[in-house]
Amino acid sequence: MPLPYTLLITPLAADAPDDGSWFAETFTEVDSSEPALRVSELSTQRGDGVFETLAVVDGHAQEVQPHLARLARSAQICELPLPNLAQWSAAISAAVAQIPQQGELAIKLVLSRGVENGPSPTAWLHASAATDFSAVRESGVRVITLDRGYDRGVAERAPWLLLGAKTLSYAVNMAALREAHRRGADDTIFVTSDGYVMEGPTSSVILRHNGVFSTPAPSGAILHGTTQTSLFEYLERHGHSVSYRDISVEELRGADAVWLVSSVRLAVAVTELDGRQLPVDAPLTRLFTEYLLSPRD
Ligand code: PLP
Repeated sequence: MPLPYTLLITPLAADAPDDGSWFAETFTEVDSSEPALRVSELSTQRGDGVFETLAVVDGHAQEVQPHLARLARSAQICELPLPNLAQWSAAISAAVAQIPQQGELAIKLVLSRGVENGPSPTAWLHASAATDFSAVRESGVRVITLDRGYDRGVAERAPWLLLGAKTLSYAVNMAALREAHRRGADDTIFVTSDGYVMEGPTSSVILRHNGVFSTPAPSGAILHGTTQTSLFEYLERHGHSVSYRDISVEELRGADAVWLVSSVRLAVAVTELDGRQLPVDAPLTRLFTEYLLSPRD
């Protein structure tokens, strides 16, 4: 089947019987170039829904269960009906069986609140060729920090901001990337208004300082990245120390290596931060890429 490949999914209740034999009846292949959503769809009207993007490398869908667990967490934060994870897992397998078995692809899972006044959520899966990130994995990225406009305690104080959910409302994240480009950088790292590192608009931050790899403590204000979690497991297996903690911007500037990590672009080294060069560990970055491209569950 050529790409892109799209399945509309009739979402089942989270506790529906999961013998799986009839999941296929809840999937409908649709032509990606034809209209498939209603105009009153709340995902398009309000960005009201949640999503996941996972990589497929040479026919293997990476980290399916961690992505589905985060989809469920996002749905819970947004008070959407919880997804039936066995059904979503079956949808991913059904799609992977239809798409090219070579190269890097991306699968996006979307669960929206449905149509206005409608009875149920809308759900779909969309598989497409991944952007070719091989050059940026080698060259790294120049990054600026940008104030996210919130302090560290915001998620607890204002849970309705949904900061820990991967919602469809990425307009702010895309605006931050445009701002970075306007200032001559490739990407950005959000910081709290009181000066602590958060995440990139589409990535998690990992830094190394005195031999310890750190990432901001997962709070309600940032996404807990599947790639960062996977890399920490890899680092620990290889005898390295890892830590989740509050990281100030000064510490980020003094790090001996910084990476932005995410499911499809994988690990890219930060070569410059706010106009100042950062040390780069090119051999380790290549090891990260090699590991992240290997089949991971
Ligand atoms: N933080 C944000 C805001 C993201 O959008 C993403 C991925 O798109 C990540 C972190 C990294 O998450 P993952 O490694 O699961 O792709």
